[in-house]
Amino acid sequence: MQPQPLIFRKGLDRRSEVAHVLEASYHSDLIAQIKASNDGFQSGRLRVHLAREFGFCYGVDRAVDYAYQARQRFTDRTVFLTGEIIHNPHVNDQIRAQGIRFLSDPHESIDALTPDDVVILPAFGIPVELLERLAERGCTLVDTTCGSVLNVWKNVKRYARDGFTSVIHGKYWHEETRATASQAQDAGGHYLVVLNRVEAAVACGYIQHGGSRETFLSTFERASSPGFDPDRDLQRVGCANQTTMLSSESMEIGEMFRDAVRQRHGDAGLDRRFQAFDTICSATQDRQDAVVALLAERQLDLMIVLGGYNSSNTCNLARICAESVPTYHIADPDRLVSSAEIRHKPVTSKHEVVTNAWLAPGPATIGLTSGASTPDNLVEQVIRRLETLVNS
Ligand code: SF4
Repeated sequence: MQPQPLIFRKGLDRRSEVAHVLEASYHSDLIAQIKASNDGFQSGRLRVHLAREFGFCYGVDRAVDYAYQARQRFTDRTVFLTGEIIHNPHVNDQIRAQGIRFLSDPHESIDALTPDDVVILPAFGIPVELLERLAERGCTLVDTTCGSVLNVWKNVKRYARDGFTSVIHGKYWHEETRATASQAQDAGGHYLVVLNRVEAAVACGYIQHGGSRETFLSTFERASSPGFDPDRDLQRVGCANQTTMLSSESMEIGEMFRDAVRQRHGDAGLDRRFQAFDTICSATQDRQDAVVALLAERQLDLMIVLGGYNSSNTCNLARICAESVPTYHIADPDRLVSSAEIRHKPVTSKHEVVTNAWLAPGPATIGLTSGASTPDNLVEQVIRRLETLVNS
């Protein structure tokens, strides 16, 4: 029998020893002050309104804390991360600077790991197959998988056990969704990942009217479980979501599937053929609600959304804002190049672009929020940069 790896899931007894490093690396006195007063920031011609909730969520806080604790506890051992701990380049760089190596780097290999090595699993979890490979190597594991992600896994495993296919609203390439899909499969179930309403409509159309099996399979080639058969595997569906999706879209997609099942099988069969569980995490929901409130309460000239371009929750904050006000999603404070130039990712694009004349001369009222993987010290740097640009 394969020996069970040593897994740390509840900290490593080094919290007080790393607290000062975390504080120095990610904290901001200015942001703490603004949060406490809930009164925004005023300097000369600049007024900044912050969303009520932004920045590090409980899952990211814990993951980063555990990574630093792991480094502190295992000083004589090599400590790895499976990949990015969270989707923020600044935080990942800081973690590298602690001497933690990334297994996702081209020169690293899981096959080279030994029982002396320590591997940290990220907040969004890892696929079952990867966990098995790490266990085979006998490494010590530090599991920072967020409780809200574990909650999604619990639901898709239940769907699998009850004979339901998990329909996951998410990005099939995202680490969290890949991990969640693997849990459904490991529990003997099938899964289908739908990115948005358009893909949901394709699947719902098939449930209602059937269609070309080949077209369906090629549409969801990389987003469905191996051997997926839409005629068999869409008979009973259970909806779940990647924790960081746009909550309004997830709810709508759940309703689309409910309606499709009802249309196809009638009301009588609904309970036996359809289940849904909202697995958007509370931190994501709170941050989305906070920008909706900010946009409703304040007259803003523009909105800055700070966070990694591959951060799902940050991109969704930008989507919400862009519906109401000119919005600039920036990865770092240095993207505020000058009052004439900003580098940012539009919500409709995967790539950064340059926009000129983004900041009109004169007084400016700017809304600001940041994704769940963005530390407060970067938010402060954005405010300081805006202060310079608006007042000079
Ligand atoms: S965004 Fe939500 S699920 Fe992801 S780490 Fe943060 S709290 Fe956990």
